[in-house]
Amino acid sequence: MVSGPSPIFKRKIMSFFQVPPPTRFDLNFSIAGIPVRVHPLFWVIALLFASGSNNLLNIATWIIGIFISILVHELGHALAFRRYGQDSYIVLHFAGGLTVPETVAFSSKYARVATTPNQQIIISLAGPFAGFFLATAVLVIGLSLGGAITFTPLLGFIPFPLLMMPAGFGLLSSFFMALLWINIFWGLINLVPVYPLDGGQVSRNILIQRDPWNGARTSLWVSVITGGAMALVGFLALGSIYMAFLFALLAFQSWQALQGSNGIY
Ligand SMILES: [Zn+2]
Repeated sequence: MVSGPSPIFKRKIMSFFQVPPPTRFDLNFSIAGIPVRVHPLFWVIALLFASGSNNLLNIATWIIGIFISILVHELGHALAFRRYGQDSYIVLHFAGGLTVPETVAFSSKYARVATTPNQQIIISLAGPFAGFFLATAVLVIGLSLGGAITFTPLLGFIPFPLLMMPAGFGLLSSFFMALLWINIFWGLINLVPVYPLDGGQVSRNILIQRDPWNGARTSLWVSVITGGAMALVGFLALGSIYMAFLFALLAFQSWQALQGSNGIY
């Protein structure tokens, strides 16, 4: 769920999110001319997330929901890249998904298009908002099939929509709930200003414009502090070891990048 960071950031803090090398178990296809590669470990992580479900059909429903959602998120980034004349490809892997701008050296046709900070902000936001759009579509389809929407407070203050489908919609109903949960919850998580999440890219591009000299460093500090806070929220408020671990790791990576930067940023 990462889009267009500068190469120096990619080298320094993205080891966890690097593009894995191709394997013979990769699934390759393309959507709207955008190449997509699914690494076999993607299915393993999707299965881990889905394994909380109580039966095989529900697990399959969640895996398909995760696959569609991450694909739609990355397509949002890829279409935004295309809007600014930049080709890209999508990789789904064990840490989620990546949309990678195509770069082919010594070929003017495929050379990377320089994007402005504001364009990069739109490219970063396009992923989570593609997911919010999908969630909205699910709610509209659910309503048109006779469902009802209720809201439950997430963390006590975020109104999270629940779709109540009439009896008889069993599997479709859990599919809708999976899509809503993944697209809204993980869309919001992705907007948190922590590297290398989309929100981290947005905060970097905003802060660089305000302060070209120190902006990137400041955004790393924002990432350390917000990441630490999110680890606590994940553990204490949501009881999620996974979220606590993920944000603690990301905060630590940002802190490491600060140590190594020696004022370069
Ligand atoms: Zn993303």
